[in-house]
Amino acid sequence: MTSQTPSDCLFCKIVAGEIPSDRVAESERSIAFRDISPAAPVHVLVVPRRHEPTVGALAAASGDDLTDVFLLAARVAEQEGVSDAHRMIVNTGSGAGQTVFHAHVHVLAGAAFTEGRMV
Ligand code: AMP
Ligand code: ZN
Repeated sequence: MTSQTPSDCLFCKIVAGEIPSDRVAESERSIAFRDISPAAPVHVLVVPRRHEPTVGALAAASGDDLTDVFLLAARVAEQEGVSDAHRMIVNTGSGAGQTVFHAHVHVLAGAAFTEGRMV
């Protein structure tokens, strides 16, 4: 999985529109779409159009893209009516549950927040 390149990357294909998604927002640098397997009533993924495997790699490559992902995530939370009660989660590495190696932020809300696993 860590050898994914843009040509075999699921989220690059979603960004390109080659694989359908339930898109809820977008900007010049990022897109947001509903998670196919939601872990909460609101579960949106915010994905930079640029391919980088992790959020850390994205930060190193482009602070503008990193900022935009979080700006769009905040806009999604507002759109979904949960700006005062949501989580933004980033899984990094397969040991932490990352399954798609294209940087992304989960926006989760609408469920009781506990310390347990939400994604
Ligand atoms: P992570 O485990 O942090 O890498 O998150 C990847 C997320 O992508 C998971 O929550 C999956 O449910 C979600 N996912 C996988 N395939 C799709 C898809 N085709 N459309 C939307 N979400 C997807
Ligand atoms: Zn990608």
